[in-house]
Amino acid sequence: MVDSIYRTRSLGVAAEGIPDQYADGKAARVWEVYIGSKQSRTDQYRNWIVSLLTERGCKNILDVACGTGVDSIMLLEQGFSVTSTDASDKMLKFALKERWVRRKEEAFDKWVIEEGNWLTLVEDLTNVKGIPNNGFDAVVCLGNSFAHMPDFAGDLSNQKTALKNFMNLVKPGGILVIDHRNYDDILATGLVPAKNVYYNSQHIKSIKCSNLYVNGRPTMVTMDYILEVPELQQEQQTSSTKEQEQSLLTMEHHFRLSYYPHRLQEFKVMLQEIFGKSAQHTIFGDFKPLGKIKAPAYYIHVIQKK
Ligand code: SAH
Repeated sequence: MVDSIYRTRSLGVAAEGIPDQYADGKAARVWEVYIGSKQSRTDQYRNWIVSLLTERGCKNILDVACGTGVDSIMLLEQGFSVTSTDASDKMLKFALKERWVRRKEEAFDKWVIEEGNWLTLVEDLTNVKGIPNNGFDAVVCLGNSFAHMPDFAGDLSNQKTALKNFMNLVKPGGILVIDHRNYDDILATGLVPAKNVYYNSQHIKSIKCSNLYVNGRPTMVTMDYILEVPELQQEQQTSSTKEQEQSLLTMEHHFRLSYYPHRLQEFKVMLQEIFGKSAQHTIFGDFKPLGKIKAPAYYIHVIQKK
């Protein structure tokens, strides 16, 4: 069966270098469905992030995993200046479309969107017009995005390069806001909660979780997302043969993404290594102070550059 757990991403996605797991456009197409209505998605944490950024006087924000643009759009609507980057042109396409549709609104007219890979992000943003010279007030990397980066070297070297780039793009005194799923729980239970503080769509049927250990070290978590999307079903009913129809139906409803399972303690140590031991670092569980929620689905780190 081609669909074994050893395939890290949906069929048709090339596996070269740091892969764009979204390259087949499959996840990109159903992403809006996956995240639920934009409003209900961002309702969950809009207040949290807006007060966090406002209290710290942040105005210029860099969203380094903008995807289809959900967080960037929320921040633009809240009056922030936003620059958005992502490695996947398939995902960026949706953000670019939205910028075009809303171009008459000043914030959207000024919205900077660039293709950018975390491993080369500083270069990718060099000479881009409209971004602050001395760094952003805040860099955000949300929605379990950072965990997409595999650790093939086994020493988190790519992760550290990416975090250094994020830090270099933050101005002194600015912050990095970065999250990951609660992999401690995922590794302990072998299960991923399908609905959580970020993703609450009624269309998510389930997420199947497969954990891969290499020499006893948890190395990769593969999640198979099963969505029920009636709109897409209808669209495909016009396709020519029944067989084609059937295969399209099943493919549309399923996409696969893989993650490196960051444990909270390991992530904390890694951030401290990059930002320095004395950097102010606060961890939240599902946007509440740590400890308030038992077994949160997400951990969110806020760390300040000295
Ligand atoms: N923050 C958005 C998107 C989440 S999907 C949301 O919550 O909806 C994760 C995104 O991370 C994808 O769009 C993917 O292309 C991007 N990504 C993964 N690896 C990347 C890398 N190395 N550099 C830049 N972006 C990357």
